[in-house]
Amino acid sequence: MDTAAVHAGRFVTPANASSSPPLFAASSYAFRDLDQMEEIYAETTAGAIYGRYGGPNTRHFASAIADLEGAEAAVAAASGMAAVDAAWRPLLRTGDRIVASTELYGGTYDLLEKGYRERGVEVVLVAQGDLGALERAVREGPCRVVHVETLTNPLVHVTDLEAVGRLAREAGAVYTVDATFTTPILCRPLRHGADLVIHSVGKYIGGHADVGLGVVSGDAAAIAEAERSIVRQGAPASHFDAWLALRGLRTLALRMARHSENARAIAAFLASRPEVAAVHHPSLPTHPQHALAQRLYPQGTGGMLAFELRGGAPAVDRLLRELRRVQIVHSLGEVATTISYSVRSSHRFLSDAQRAELGAGDGTLRLSCGIEDARDIIADLEQALAKAGSSVPV
Ligand code: PLP
Repeated sequence: MDTAAVHAGRFVTPANASSSPPLFAASSYAFRDLDQMEEIYAETTAGAIYGRYGGPNTRHFASAIADLEGAEAAVAAASGMAAVDAAWRPLLRTGDRIVASTELYGGTYDLLEKGYRERGVEVVLVAQGDLGALERAVREGPCRVVHVETLTNPLVHVTDLEAVGRLAREAGAVYTVDATFTTPILCRPLRHGADLVIHSVGKYIGGHADVGLGVVSGDAAAIAEAERSIVRQGAPASHFDAWLALRGLRTLALRMARHSENARAIAAFLASRPEVAAVHHPSLPTHPQHALAQRLYPQGTGGMLAFELRGGAPAVDRLLRELRRVQIVHSLGEVATTISYSVRSSHRFLSDAQRAELGAGDGTLRLSCGIEDARDIIADLEQALAKAGSSVPV
């Protein structure tokens, strides 16, 4: 009985396929014989070896993303940050240069400063959207990587992907693009000149705030390098999270359309309020890159917006206490509308000067517009602004 209990039902392969992908929780896979083992190690036969090397769910998910991106290959990693690192680590050695925009997700900025600059990589940050400064920076010396985000965090500036791509190509640099805010539904950066595209999958792609995962897409050789880095660093994607993320992908197009539509309506509402000094969303004709956004993102500019509340931190504190439906959350991209106070959350470790350079002040709030009926979210914001906001310009 001891042996039977250990071996009973161990290897189960159904006679026909399930209509949705099964979850493989296994961390270890058996080989029929040494020939099969050799084929799987040599990757001439698709198969799995061991959890850290990736399994069927992480591969299914990555190949679905590669299809959507129009990429040769993709690999999933433990988080968005693990995916950023997997893209860069094979490329950047001591003495190499990376040129990136100043407007980066706080964790990416931290990785550049502590993970790369402190290890001898030259990190050059140029003001978001300043193509002249970017051109000077990439021409100053050999440049290995140019990195940008499609839409920036928190102020939702629009990157001119093609113009940056041209400069990266002229410099012979690898062009890496973080497209977390846009997803492959709104933008496929490889078509705009990117070499590698990165997503924090727990945001829009997963969509339900229950996934921690990242993915990098690009040409097969670069992705093989990224995959080796993930295996070496021990940063593989979780099988379950990859399974959830693939499920999220099924509704991504519907969700992105609704996120964009809601953000457009909410941005227009906020822009009409006296308590609000400024609204940042590319759908607004007043946004400095409105025309660029329309060209790059004809299907919509996504669900992220930022706004400046008059009255600074005290007004922010009052507003956040008055909101009933919209919750204060660090992350973004889920089905529910959430709000974040970047200067005290994702960007809290930046100095005042760095935050000022970014343009995020004490009154800046970031809203991740969900897929609810926008009228309910507007009503919640309206009652909270009326109770908490100051309409006196400061
Ligand atoms: N890139 C962007 C644009 C992000 O917003 C985030 C997280 O918020 C990341 C990367 C990092 O992703 P993760 O938290 O999955 O590591």
